[in-house]
Amino acid sequence: MFKSIKSKIVVFAVMATLVPSLGLGLLSFRQNEAQISDNVARELRALTNYAIREIELWVEKRVHETQVTSASIVVVEGLATADRPASTPGKNPAAVGHYLRSVQKKLDTILELTVVNAAGEVIASSAETPEPVAIPSSWPQTRLIAAPHWNKQYEAPTLSVAVPVLSYGDVLLGAMVAVLDLRNLKPYLKSATKSPPGEVLLLDSNGRTLVSSYDDENKLTQLDSALLSQLREQAGDSIAFHGLTHPQVIGLADVAPQLSITVLAERDRAEVYGAWIELRNIFLGLVAALVLVVTAVAFQMGRSIVLPLQRLMRAADRIAAGDLEVRLSATRSDELGHLTQVFNQMTDRLRHSHAKIMATNEAMQQQNEVLKTLSITDSLTGLYNRSKLDSILTDQLARFKRSHRPFTLLMLDIDHFKTLNDTYGHIAGDEILAAVARILLQSIRSIDYAARYGGDEFIIILTETSAELATNTAERVRSQVEALYPTVKGTEIALTVSIGIVEPRLEDMTPTEVFASADYALYEAKRAGRNRAYCPLLIKSEA
Ligand code: GH3
Ligand code: MG
Repeated sequence: MFKSIKSKIVVFAVMATLVPSLGLGLLSFRQNEAQISDNVARELRALTNYAIREIELWVEKRVHETQVTSASIVVVEGLATADRPASTPGKNPAAVGHYLRSVQKKLDTILELTVVNAAGEVIASSAETPEPVAIPSSWPQTRLIAAPHWNKQYEAPTLSVAVPVLSYGDVLLGAMVAVLDLRNLKPYLKSATKSPPGEVLLLDSNGRTLVSSYDDENKLTQLDSALLSQLREQAGDSIAFHGLTHPQVIGLADVAPQLSITVLAERDRAEVYGAWIELRNIFLGLVAALVLVVTAVAFQMGRSIVLPLQRLMRAADRIAAGDLEVRLSATRSDELGHLTQVFNQMTDRLRHSHAKIMATNEAMQQQNEVLKTLSITDSLTGLYNRSKLDSILTDQLARFKRSHRPFTLLMLDIDHFKTLNDTYGHIAGDEILAAVARILLQSIRSIDYAARYGGDEFIIILTETSAELATNTAERVRSQVEALYPTVKGTEIALTVSIGIVEPRLEDMTPTEVFASADYALYEAKRAGRNRAYCPLLIKSEA
C-alpha cells in the first residue's frame, strides 16, 4: 500500500504533524483538567465552609431568641408555680401557653415553642401537639441542639433547640424547646452560592435533602448512603458522581460539627468542563484542519516528484524497447528538471551513436557483399571462379540425384591460345579471354552458369537441359567465337574454341568425376580437329 514515494511522503507528513500536535495538546489538556479539578475543589470547599458558618450563625441567633424568650417572667414564674399544684393549678400554664403562641407568631423562624419542666413533662406549648423532646439527664446545660430532620407534622425540615429555664436563684426549672424552620436558611444558602458558583445542600444523617440553594427542590432525592459515607470519608476532597442537582456533578461534603448536619456542595460537571471541552474540540478541529492541509501539501509535493519520475520511467521504457526518438520537455529548474535535461542529452548521444553504428554496419555489409562477390568471381573475366564453380556443380549434382532433373556441362578451351599469347603478348591474351567470356555470358539463360575453369578453359552449366539441347548452345558459342575476329595490334585474329559436352550420370558422385568426363570430351573435340563440340553420349547413341 505504501510502496510509492508519494504515499510515503504523505504518511510521513501526517505522522510528523499528528504525533507532536496530539501529544503536546493532550498533555496540556491533561494538565488543564487537573488544574480545573483543583480549582473546583477549592471553590467547593470555600462554599461548604461559608455555608456552615452561615448556618451556625443563623442557629446561634435562633438560640439567642429562644434564650431571651425563656428568660421571660411569664415562663420562669409559670414553671416555678407549675411545680406547686396546691396554689393555682392550671392558671399559670395557660398564661405560658398564651405567651408562647404570641411569641411564636411573631417569629417566622420558629415553628413551635414548648416549655417543659425539669422532668421533661410539657408544661405549655404554642402547638397543640408539641414535638416530643428528650431532655438528657446531664442538665443544666446552656443549650441542646437536636439533629435536624424532616418534620412530618410541619411538612418541613426542622431543627429543635432546647435552652434551660432557671429560677431567679439559678435553680433549673425546666427547658424551653424551639422547633426551628430550616427553610429559612434557603436565602442564606442562595447568597452563599453567588460566588463561587455551585449548589449547597443540607442533608440529614440519612442523606435526605433538608434544604438547599437549588431552586427546584422537588427534584432533589435521597443521596445514596454508600456515596454519602464515601463523601464524608473524602473529607474535603472533591469526587465526580451522579449528583442530586445534575446528572453528573463534582462535589464534596463537610459536616457542621455542632449541628450534625452534612453540607454537600455540588457543581455541574458539564458546566465546569464545558469551556475545557469546547477548547479541546476547537483544538482537535484545528489539528484535523492542519492534518488536511499538510496532507494536501504533501500529496502535491509527492505528485510533483512522482509525475516527472513516471514520465522519465515511461521514456526509459521506450528507449529500452528501441525507440530512440524520445524527447522530454524540461521546464523545471529543480533537480528533476536537471535530471530530465541530462536524460535528453543521454538520449541524443545514444541516438547519434546508434546512427553511427548503423551507418558503419551498412558500409560493412556493402563491403561484405563486394568481398563475397569477389570471392566467387574471376577478376579477369567477371565470370564465376573455380571455387564457386565447384560448389555450383556440387549443388547441381545433389539436385539431380534428388529430383532426377538433368543438366549439362560444357567445357570450352581456346584453340592454340599459347601461340596467340606468345605472338601478341600476355595482355592481348587477357583481352581475348575477356572477349570469349562476354560471348559465354550472352549465350546463356539466367538460370545457367558460366565460370572460368582455369587458364584458357571455361565451363558452362545448363540447368534443366539435356545434352542434345546443349549442343545448340555449344554450337552457338562456337560460331560466335569463330565470327569474333578480335583486332590485336591492328591485326584481326582468327579465334576458335573446342567444346566438350557431358550430361552427368547418376553414378557420377563428385564434381571431379564430371570434370574428368568433360575433359575427355574436350580432348576428343581437340583431337577431331578443334573448332568443334563433342558429346560422347550423342556419339554413342548415334552409334
Ligand atoms: P590447344 O589448342 O591444345 O589448347 O593448344 P594451346 O596452345 O591453347 O595449349 P594450352 O591450352 O595448354 O595453352 C594454354 C595457355 O594459356 C598456356 C598459358 O600460357 C596461357 N595462359 C594461362 N593462363 C593465362 C592467362 O591468365 N592469361 C594469358 N594471357 N595467358 C594465359
Ligand atoms: Mg587451349
